[in-house]
Amino acid sequence: MSNETLSRRDLLKGALVGIAAGTAASLVTNAAQAGTAPMLSESDPQAKSLGYVEDSTKVDAKANPVHKPTQKCANCIQFQGKPADKQAACNLFPGKDVAGAGWCKVWVQKPGAA
Ligand code: SF4
Repeated sequence: MSNETLSRRDLLKGALVGIAAGTAASLVTNAAQAGTAPMLSESDPQAKSLGYVEDSTKVDAKANPVHKPTQKCANCIQFQGKPADKQAACNLFPGKDVAGAGWCKVWVQKPGAA
């Protein structure tokens, strides 16, 4: 009887821990997808190395001759938001949001995006 009680208690504890972990992971994922993570700074070392800017119209054309003004984070394959989102997560910068109007050197057009 007492072993059965402990067993049930352990199962319940395990289930509660699992639910809490799942909820926390879900909150983190939802925050990133909803565009509520901290914004990526242009001065972030990784952002700098990839030439990230918050405004695609301000890209240095001499340094980035293949850039076109229509290329934006919002229509990049790595952007996790919707095309109209002002900011959202990017696969290259975990835990940060990038500007929908932004751009970096590894931009690749999202299939079906204009
Ligand atoms: Fe923007 Fe795409 Fe670069 Fe991410 S990979 S910062 S979405 S252009």
